[in-house]
Amino acid sequence: MQKGQMLYEGKAKKIFRTDDENIYWVVYKDDATAFNGAKKGQVANKGLLNNKISSLFFKMLKKEGIDNHFIENISENEQLIKKVEIINVEVVVRNVATGSLVKRLGFTEGEELSEPIVEFYYKNDALNDPFINEDHIKILKLADPGQVQQMREQGLRVNTVLKRFMEQLGIILVDFKLEFGVDSEGKVLLADEISPDTCRFWDIKTQEKLDKDRFRQDLGGVEEAYQEILKRLEAKI
Ligand code: 5GP
Repeated sequence: MQKGQMLYEGKAKKIFRTDDENIYWVVYKDDATAFNGAKKGQVANKGLLNNKISSLFFKMLKKEGIDNHFIENISENEQLIKKVEIINVEVVVRNVATGSLVKRLGFTEGEELSEPIVEFYYKNDALNDPFINEDHIKILKLADPGQVQQMREQGLRVNTVLKRFMEQLGIILVDFKLEFGVDSEGKVLLADEISPDTCRFWDIKTQEKLDKDRFRQDLGGVEEAYQEILKRLEAKI
């Protein structure tokens, strides 16, 4: 497989074409950003850690019947993925109240939700990824109602599988963000990454944060937290 022209450079990854038009080549970067790029930094080995962690999650989800864009790892910080047309909607699923749910809607920090909440955000840096509903998604033509329904259902299925899996590692799956794309057959396919950059993970015993909130909130030990997630995953898988 040959790496071709770069198609896109995001905050955490670069995407390249390959000599197969249906396959893209992803390079995970060590760059860390938060608050829509307002806070910038580098986390040593983040690219390598998120590549490995995300690959393990995607493989596990596939085994559990949740298809996704992951094909294979090609180096410590690179993977091949199926080409999809990304839907510009971020799907957030929550089990415990924290972050913007507390700030915006007055939930109590750390409160366990009686059932998971699914939210949609418009993936648009210029607008700061605003909270949107299904009507906005339809009128903005980001996705049709059937696709929204599929993103919601897949989001909840990922939550069920991932929450149970993380519990076995002694970790609470607090919340996470997913992205989806449309593949060459028109199917809505789970894409992007699943990692401590995109999920909140709290240690069950100590409540210690093992995710990007350590970077967002200047708590230190960011690399160590990501290493801890990988260590527990590798011990289990
Ligand atoms: P909140 O809305 O509370 O800030 O975030 C909810 C969840 O979605 C958290 O797990 C957070 O990491 C994830 N999330 C939401 N938006 C983004 C984003 O633009 N980038 C990343 N990496 N994660 C996000």
